[in-house]
Amino acid sequence: MAETITHLLGGKAWDGATAERGEVFDPATGAVSRHVALADETVVDAAVAAARHAFEDWRDVSLTRRTRILFAFRDILESRRDELARMVTAEHGKVVSDARGEITRGLEVVEFACGIAHLLKGEHSEQVSTDVDTWTVRQPLGVVAGITPFNFPAMVPMWMFPIAVACGNTFVLKPSERDPSAPLALAEWFSEAGLPDGVLNIVHGDRVAVDSLLDHPDIRAVSFVGSTPVARHVYERGTGAGKRVQALGGAKNHMIVLPDADLDRAADAAVSAGFGSAGERCMAVSVVVAVDPVGDSLVEKIADRAGRVVVGDGRADGVEMGPLVTAQHCSRVRGYVDTGVAQGAELVLDGRDISVADRPDGFWLGPCVFDRVTPGMTVYTDEIFGPVLCIVRVESYDAALHLVNENPYGNGVALFTRDGGAARLFQREVEAGMVGVNVPIPVPMAFHSFGGWGQSLFGDTHVYGPEGVRFYTRAKAITAQWADPHLAGPDLGFPTHR
Ligand code: NAD
Repeated sequence: MAETITHLLGGKAWDGATAERGEVFDPATGAVSRHVALADETVVDAAVAAARHAFEDWRDVSLTRRTRILFAFRDILESRRDELARMVTAEHGKVVSDARGEITRGLEVVEFACGIAHLLKGEHSEQVSTDVDTWTVRQPLGVVAGITPFNFPAMVPMWMFPIAVACGNTFVLKPSERDPSAPLALAEWFSEAGLPDGVLNIVHGDRVAVDSLLDHPDIRAVSFVGSTPVARHVYERGTGAGKRVQALGGAKNHMIVLPDADLDRAADAAVSAGFGSAGERCMAVSVVVAVDPVGDSLVEKIADRAGRVVVGDGRADGVEMGPLVTAQHCSRVRGYVDTGVAQGAELVLDGRDISVADRPDGFWLGPCVFDRVTPGMTVYTDEIFGPVLCIVRVESYDAALHLVNENPYGNGVALFTRDGGAARLFQREVEAGMVGVNVPIPVPMAFHSFGGWGQSLFGDTHVYGPEGVRFYTRAKAITAQWADPHLAGPDLGFPTHR
């Protein structure tokens, strides 16, 4: 009988009853490798109670002590990066080198959080009135929750909890039920680094757990990353319950190639960003916009490179692209390829008939490239989240920009060109939260913040970086007078400076 992964509440594995369990697959073999407990309202209540209890002490733990724990956690992560990467690959399917990359990007947020003492310094104004000073501090909110997607089981949780906890909050994380082992290991390792019990709790589960978190009166804020329909639901239900919410949704990221671009470089970038992690990245390039007259040449270069991508078990040497996460998701993505063909897009590379030696039951789909896609086609309108790259041909820069700005998503976008003036115009005019110039996946470093526009983000703040610190804290302005002036008696007028 496969092991059941369970919740971590108040530093201990949940040993209560588990009514519902989910299956966790090894996507390369298709086998069920583990089960995962799915939390109900009782488990969520227990997790929030543990976090609430822990907050009473954690909020008062000195910045020096918090920082030391973060540094210790950072060192553990660094030394176990490979172990964690293999854990991610076993449940997600991405190749181990790619999993290592995601861990590095998460580690960078932990490193940013190690500087929390600097980030929480606040602002001070001396002598705002005679003998009066005013200063602003940022204080933690209390218990906050994170809800994360399957595609970055280590990195996306690390976008959230290191900063939230560094700011003095306590945290309940509800990771994806499809690959729950890596986030659980992160919480256990943070505890090993000295984090007190109850500061970081994990509840596994599905929509039942999510809705219980959104409705819970003791949760002050929710960070969510996932698909757009769920992001909208989380934002509406969470804010309706009076919480602060940031909900990052799906994407349809375009990469525009201007006629003056280096086409070999652009083709390399399109294939790396389109098929890395089998296209299961929110910043994957899913649409290449070829500006006349580069279409024929670019399509040929992309199809040639994509056709040579080595697909297989992400643990094997030399493999560049792994399987999709579940059989259900794989058949959904295949369905999109069938629809694209039926709607008249030209399938110049068909990955549907792929087979991988010794892994007949894995969730395989090879790279697929569609040429002459038009904006009305389903492969253009929907987020496919798989190894399917669409190429749209347009006649001008203006037409390319219009296409991008008309798209309801606004996560990432890239422009490939050698023209600095065009690039500058583009970065000013384009409507997207993250812009790459000759950079296909412009994920900001940890000391900036990450977030899209349009239907790629509901809420006001982006995640991690300076905006993360703002999200997980609230301002308090203090005005004080310590001099001992002669008081001339009560004055009922509204206070003004003197
Ligand atoms: P998902 O929306 O299905 O699930 C995300 C989380 O929500 C999971 O924890 C899941 O258990 C929970 N959930 C699922 N359905 C729910 C429902 N009906 N009610 C309440 N909670 C529910 O997303 P996914 O398939 O795990 O991840 C892929 C999606 O995430 C893609 O759309 C991708 O673009 C997006 N994503 C976005 C970003 C970003 O930064 N914008 C980053 C990574 C992934």
